[in-house]
Amino acid sequence: MQYWIIGSGPAGRSAAAELRRLDTKADIGLVTEETEPVYSRLELPSYLSGERSRDELIGNAKDFAREYDLQLITGRRVVNLDPKKNLLVLSDKRQLRFDRLLIATGTRPKVPSFQHTSDALYSFRTLADAQRLVRTLEHLENALVYGNGILAVETARALKKRGLEVTVIADDEGLWPNHFGGLTGEQVSEYLQSLGITVHENDPITDLLDEATFHYFARTRSGRTIRTQLIVQLLGCLPRTRFLRNAGVEGNGGIFVNKYLQSSREDVFAAGDCAVIEDTEKSAQRSNFGWLSAIRQGKLAAKNMIGEQPVEVDVTSDDYFFRLEGGDPASRWNLHGDATS
Ligand SMILES: Cc1cc2nc3c(=O)[nH]c(=O)nc-3n(C[C@H](O)[C@H](O)[C@H](O)COP(=O)(O)OP(=O)(O)OC[C@H]3O[C@@H](n4cnc5c(N)ncnc54)[C@H](O)[C@@H]3O)c2cc1C
Repeated sequence: MQYWIIGSGPAGRSAAAELRRLDTKADIGLVTEETEPVYSRLELPSYLSGERSRDELIGNAKDFAREYDLQLITGRRVVNLDPKKNLLVLSDKRQLRFDRLLIATGTRPKVPSFQHTSDALYSFRTLADAQRLVRTLEHLENALVYGNGILAVETARALKKRGLEVTVIADDEGLWPNHFGGLTGEQVSEYLQSLGITVHENDPITDLLDEATFHYFARTRSGRTIRTQLIVQLLGCLPRTRFLRNAGVEGNGGIFVNKYLQSSREDVFAAGDCAVIEDTEKSAQRSNFGWLSAIRQGKLAAKNMIGEQPVEVDVTSDDYFFRLEGGDPASRWNLHGDATS
């Protein structure tokens, strides 16, 4: 049996380990566009703040491949899935045949609607993004963070620790709209301000003007003009599924999967941030954010790819969708949320 996994995040890596544990003879391959496939995304804010070095984040890819006896392809993107021949097509035109496939491609950042120039705008999701930011920030004194969730808060904290003057702008949803961990937007805003970070809420950026490199003006809807040297955009994310255009795998943004994490194609599974599961009790769709829940999904998908005893996701449980490594926000930041929400 030939298994392929796309993506080297927690869902993909845990699935590879579980497949090997369950089937010592299988051919297992993992392909990822990252050149460093084994690193912790969770530590990226500490790298950004200067508290950790790049080397402290990165694990040994060769050891990982050896430990689980994997064919590991790094630095290559899957650009197509040929549904008739069960082939993955890579960015270097190589083709990989699979019997069972796991898609664990995570998400990409949403692009703000005012984007007409890319110079001022930086993403912060991957090691490559973090390295680009760290190099650029060496020469800068201020930065603007555009977002309203946990990544925006962690990024603002990290930039402040680095010694920059930081402004956070939250759009119409305000800060902390989902009340994660029982915290309110007000609590999170007060917390950021206590760190010396300026916060403007319900005031989306409507335009971005260039004066010169590292000299930009962000204009907000209320008429505010903020001078900034760069903007980190953290306006949420979208599943990375473009390569599935002609693959016969159903989805609407994310990949629709059933409780076994199986897509509309029997031989294709999806796990982690790119998968969307129907919660029939609440008539709602759920998708993942969290390192530990992504691991849980990756392992469960692997079990079902092997197919001996099907196991189900508990759609109502946060263990499968929102289990954070590093603690919930309130305990991380020493705030007191309402644990019941
Ligand atoms: C900066 C940051 C900080 C975070 N902090 C925390 C935290 O403190 N605690 C917590 O629990 N969670 C945190 N998260 C969220 C957590 O990292 C994600 O929920 C988790 O990584 C999702 O795992 P995944 O395996 O589904 O996807 P990802 O980790 O996003 O991995 C997807 C992989 O697929 C690869 N890929 C995508 N498309 C292709 C393609 N076409 N071809 C080949 N490879 C492809 C990507 O390069 C990547 O390797 C953080 C996220 C970020 C960005």
